[in-house]
Amino acid sequence: MASSAIVSAVRFFLLLTFLVATHSQSLSNPTYSPDEVSTNLGEVESRDNGQELEFRYHDHDQLTRYLRSVSARYPALTALYSIGKSVQGRDLWVMVVSASPYEHMIGKPDVKYVANIHGNEAVGRELLLHLIQHLVTSYDTDPYIKWLLDNTRIHLMPSMNPDGFAISKEGQCDNTFGRHNARRYDLNRNFPDYFKANMKQPQPETEAIKEWISKIQFVLSGSLHGGALVASYPFDNTPSAIFQSYAHSPSIAPDDDVFRHLSLVYSNNHAKMSRGVSCKSGSPRFEKGITNGAAWYPLTGGMQDYNYIWHGCMEITLEISCCKYPPAHELAKYWQDNKQIPITAHATLGPAFPVVEDSSCPPSPRSSTCSWSTSVRPRILFGPLNASTVST
Ligand SMILES: [Zn+2]
Repeated sequence: MASSAIVSAVRFFLLLTFLVATHSQSLSNPTYSPDEVSTNLGEVESRDNGQELEFRYHDHDQLTRYLRSVSARYPALTALYSIGKSVQGRDLWVMVVSASPYEHMIGKPDVKYVANIHGNEAVGRELLLHLIQHLVTSYDTDPYIKWLLDNTRIHLMPSMNPDGFAISKEGQCDNTFGRHNARRYDLNRNFPDYFKANMKQPQPETEAIKEWISKIQFVLSGSLHGGALVASYPFDNTPSAIFQSYAHSPSIAPDDDVFRHLSLVYSNNHAKMSRGVSCKSGSPRFEKGITNGAAWYPLTGGMQDYNYIWHGCMEITLEISCCKYPPAHELAKYWQDNKQIPITAHATLGPAFPVVEDSSCPPSPRSSTCSWSTSVRPRILFGPLNASTVST
């Protein structure tokens, strides 16, 4: 058919563009270079080939092949890079999806999603692969996705803990096997902490994240977890952390109103999070599906407090599945429950970071007349918790 010949020609052209691009472009910061391993599309498994993606779990090699195939098929919309390696030497892949994937554009914010920090919390890992798929395949047909990618750079890290995932078992809902990295450190307790000294030995995965967010000025972030259904926001720790096993009072950040807004946008766009239903008897119900982190339970060395206090990046933690590693046949349902993720990225950015000069900018996330300004920085940078006074 003529149309398939055209498609083949376009693919060939895109592949050529990719091969040229990987040798002539670099990401905006020279620290990170695009992945230069071209993919022989003929070797890619039949369905997960950058055009389609099956609802099943992907091990590290399959995940790597999938990301490379997307990168080969959509060179104008994506760039694949690694921010470092895990303890066991697996790449910590990040795919940036944007109409300008290779360079930061002033006024176009960088946002990120990080999943699978706990290796046995596997749903977010697959959801980010499907989100990548959704973004790249919708750019030409969905005006909203086009607008989003024209005005944002979205960096997606499907797995921050590939070593933990490698030993985790499908179907395990509640245990902690695979949660930690290969040296048995909990990566979401491994960051510097403002409230309490964190004596844990820094791990390669957290060191890579720290360098990453020091190089790219992210303004928003979602950290994807499993085991509950709630959007949790800073602070995770509290000045009274000495009583941490007893304290369940909120630890309020200077931008509490914005954090609550961000969390509510996610919760309200999720199929059921906002109902505040507890996962099982005895586990907490969260009003409107959101909670202050410390009010749930305080923790030291968490990633979201670090993002906010050290770098002014407003990160929230998204607990998206009651079961940490549900059977693969349930993944399609989880995608349906969470498929508003890109809308969330957009909606959260719109009201939170409107261009200050444009007072007529409507709060609608689908408006094409608004743009954002990264000059609007979180209050914490001007408040009592000035990042420059925090020692690492
Ligand atoms: Zn977790």
